[in-house]
Parts: sequence; structure tokens; C-alpha cells
Amino acid sequence: MITIALTKGRILKETLPLLAQAGIEPEEDISASRKLMFATNRSDIRLLVLRGVDVPTYVQFGAADLGVAGKDTLMEHEGNGYYEPLDLGISRCRLMTAGIVGARRPSGRIRVATKYLNVARHYYAECGRQADVIKLYGAMELAPLVSLCDEIVDIVDTGNTMKANGLESRELIADISSRLIVNKGALKIKHGTIRPLINQLDAVVRAAD
Ligand code: AMP
Repeated sequence: MITIALTKGRILKETLPLLAQAGIEPEEDISASRKLMFATNRSDIRLLVLRGVDVPTYVQFGAADLGVAGKDTLMEHEGNGYYEPLDLGISRCRLMTAGIVGARRPSGRIRVATKYLNVARHYYAECGRQADVIKLYGAMELAPLVSLCDEIVDIVDTGNTMKANGLESRELIADISSRLIVNKGALKIKHGTIRPLINQLDAVVRAAD
């Protein structure tokens, strides 16, 4: 049995057509179900539907053989135990710093709010800027408006959310897309099933380019 951990939400919506083109389809409508595990038309493949942050953990510890997660999530997870063989090219966006439009940046230590603690700490350290990074779980765009922080680190797609909240994106930290990850041990042990699956998905992604 091969278990694939998927990230629910917009990544799931864009992953299912790729899987379908590779001949893998859930046996029921995932969006209409409260279940978290789904059989597929392939008796040897099942799907898990998880929060993105949990996908690398499931794959790292071998509870799932394969996973699909955003590069932002993988950068933050900093896990080992898995390879990242394929850029699926879906759910593209940018991980950016942002602040209030036109606001002068404090010259000394700044406070940064984000759900990407590790990424932000590394980024500001690499830039040689002193930053106290504080964790938020959502609505990052609100934080600078109420002086919780000077800057945020967050995902930007169209930029509409930033704009609607009077923020401007400043520096690009990384271009993001969703990646296929595979447990290292599983790739070795189930090579005969997993390798063709990766190749199939690779072909689907290339054809979409
Ligand atoms: P936008 O207003 O189009 O810039 O979208 C920004 C918001 O949508 C951010 O706060 C993100 O949380 C979310 N978002 C946009 N694109 C993605 C993506 N590819 N993956 C995860 N979240 C995203």
C-alpha cells in the first residue's frame, strides 16, 4: 500500500487534477466528505487529507510514503527523512516581507510577526538585520496596523490582501510552489511502485509546462 498525504485547501484542488492525469482518482468526492483518508481507483494507493504543516511530519516519520506540500511549509519544517524529487508547479506564490505602505523602517531592532518563525529568523540573520520574530497563526496582515510588529513575513499571491490592509510587500524571500516529497526509507523499500509514480507525475507536470 502506498499512502500519499495531501494538503487540504487550494493545494488539494490543484493536486487532484495532476493525480487524475497520472491515473489516480479518489473513490469519493473529497470536498463533500469529512473523512481524512480516502481509497482510490488504485487498490494499492490511498490518500490522506491534512493541514499543510502536518504533511512533512507524516512523510518524515513514514506514516505517509509521499506527500504534497507548499515549499513555504517545507522551508519552515526544516525536516529530514524525506526527499523532494518534484516541483509540481502548482499553487505558485511568493514568500515576502511586508510593512505599512510608506512607513519608515526603524533602523535598529525590528519586530516581525509571522507563522514562518524559522524562515524569518534565518532571513533576517542572513541580511544582518536584528529582528525579534513572534509567532502568529493567522491574519498576519493585521499585526502591523495595530503596532504589534514593524514587518510581517507572509505569502503573497495577487497582493490584494496586502493592498486591502494598507500594506506593501518589500523583499522577496522565496518563490513558492507545491512540491512532491517522498520518505527516504519508503523510496528504497517500495522503489518498484514509488519510482514509476514519481515518473508519471513528472511527465504530467512537464506536459503542463
Ligand atoms: P493574495 O491576496 O492573492 O496576495 O493572497 C494572499 C493570501 O492568500 C495570503 O495571506 C496567503 O495566506 C494566501 N495564499 C495565497 N497563495 C497561497 C498559496 N499558494 N498557498 C497558500 N496560501 C496562499
